[in-house]
Amino acid sequence: MQSQDAPAVWKHLVEGNGRFVDGRMTHFDPKVERRNSARNPTPRAIVLTCADPRVVPEYIFDLPPGTLFTIRNAGAGVDTSVVAACDFGLELFRTPLIVVMAHTRCAALLAAESSDRFPALSETTQGERSGAGAAEANVRFGIERLLTSLGIAAAVRERGVLIQGAIYDVDTGHVKTLPI
Ligand SMILES: [Zn+2]
Repeated sequence: MQSQDAPAVWKHLVEGNGRFVDGRMTHFDPKVERRNSARNPTPRAIVLTCADPRVVPEYIFDLPPGTLFTIRNAGAGVDTSVVAACDFGLELFRTPLIVVMAHTRCAALLAAESSDRFPALSETTQGERSGAGAAEANVRFGIERLLTSLGIAAAVRERGVLIQGAIYDVDTGHVKTLPI
């Protein structure tokens, strides 16, 4: 069972990314958006992505504050704190969608190859860390790890929450949808 909302929310994000790529971003009024989100934050998606300064989800999806529950760390790795944050976000906001989004030219994934220097990064990420498939392999690894959480697995199974993999291209701004 998949929530009817989930594909629609993902489509909404992809459309926002189209505006971002084309340089046709919506101009939000900061005062209005702050007031709206302070009173009634209604994120429709949880986004797990890298802490890389080039990867800013609200810009990439052309969305105002209050619309995404964002979790970022080096390499978009999944550890217990990320699982806890996803679990919390799902419960609090009843979001129908989790986006796991890696990106091209990810320095954190390259650094993770050096397990002596960055053991925690090596632990939370995986796969061939350089090369064309690195980002995608890491997204799939992250999704598998999220699904080991009983709470997240139950949300997927019983509430139809969709976990969508994606790759952000730092050169073009385009977000590639990975097959589910
Ligand atoms: Zn990165």
